[in-house]
Amino acid sequence: MYNSIIVKYGEIGVKGKNRYIFENKLIKNIKNMLKPIDKFNVYKEYGRVYVDLGDYEYDEICEEVKKVFGVVGVCPAVKVLRNNEEDVEAAYTQLKETALVVLEEKIANGAKSFKVESRRGDKSFRLTSQDMSIDIGGYLLSKVGDKIKVDINKPEVKIKCELRESNVVVYSDTVAGYGGLPIGTNGKAMSLLSGGIDSPVATWMVAKRGMEVEAIHFHTYPFTSEKSQEKVKDLARILAKYVGKVRLHKINLLEIQKAVGLNCRDEEMTIISRRFMMRIAERVGIQRNCDALITGESIGQVASQTIQGLTCTNASVSLPVFRPLIAMDKTEIIDIAKKIDTFETSIIPEEDCCSVFAPKKPVTKPRLEKIEDSEKALDVEQLIQDAIDNMEVEVIEF
Ligand code: ATP
Ligand code: MG
Repeated sequence: MYNSIIVKYGEIGVKGKNRYIFENKLIKNIKNMLKPIDKFNVYKEYGRVYVDLGDYEYDEICEEVKKVFGVVGVCPAVKVLRNNEEDVEAAYTQLKETALVVLEEKIANGAKSFKVESRRGDKSFRLTSQDMSIDIGGYLLSKVGDKIKVDINKPEVKIKCELRESNVVVYSDTVAGYGGLPIGTNGKAMSLLSGGIDSPVATWMVAKRGMEVEAIHFHTYPFTSEKSQEKVKDLARILAKYVGKVRLHKINLLEIQKAVGLNCRDEEMTIISRRFMMRIAERVGIQRNCDALITGESIGQVASQTIQGLTCTNASVSLPVFRPLIAMDKTEIIDIAKKIDTFETSIIPEEDCCSVFAPKKPVTKPRLEKIEDSEKALDVEQLIQDAIDNMEVEVIEF
């Protein structure tokens, strides 16, 4: 029955003169999301985006389209093109008959009450939108009034009917999307992606606001296993479901951690390592035209994320650092991780480079001057350069 999907997008609608840029990006991103399935006709019409379903079932396609950032909701719809020869009355009859088909499906699924909502896009038609609703509602009751009632205030289903100049459209349900803005409308960020719960969520949240993302992961192979790198690739692959593909940069931090271990105080290992990660991420990020870094840090979560720890980490770079989880509790972060499907992968136990070399008692209130002083014992520039020279890169697709 359903032959089309209406894509609802919220915030894009308020972008004024730039609106078409956002809409065109959205259309392109929807096409890309559907590409593994088939080539679909995705187009803009009367300030809305439609996807024609062709031979596909709506649920499969809705499931994909709702993952595209910028999409607030998707509605399976029946769309019938108007025949130019026919007058508006014939189109209206077509609309009523289509509404009946949709309502009958709802009845078959157990609905007991309904309401009609109409829109008159074709202003040449004799009835106002409100009168259309009353009239269509009466027609539907005359056909199936023995099985379902009208309820204006709390209907179980709404039958939405639209009479347009070139077509008639009927739809009912809306499947919620994630909202946000289309990826590619807000620059690019380099995300520090560990194998934990937090950083995939942080990456997803920033991408949701329209930023393209790339990822950088630090390991200490052979002290960290190949499996732990596989886990990060799996997380990148899940993220790729939403963001297209993820360019994953892998950096071996072993030489740096050895140098820190030999030359700095044991309790400063974590915070100094973190500062190296940030510097390397920034260096690689700038090479890749990134405008910002992303981390999964949250105030006070672990020793390196006290306000003093965050201050030391922050001071190591000059690109803006986006920390979308900064004020979130672990339980809130986990809820999102579950929703976006990264949680089950994140909790697989694998060692992280920070845990392998973690000091027994890390400083919880590092002072920036002291940390900078400790780093004087290191050839920071050379260590960074060597690590980047040995970088491996993979492009991860879903
Ligand atoms: P996560 O669940 O993201 O691992 P966490 O609570 O374990 O977070 P930390 O290990 O302190 O926190 O890391 C804070 C942030 O630093 C991470 O969210 C991530 O952005 C970055 N980070 C930590 N370890 C790595 C790593 N091995 N590679 C890349 N980024 C890392
Ligand atoms: Mg971690």
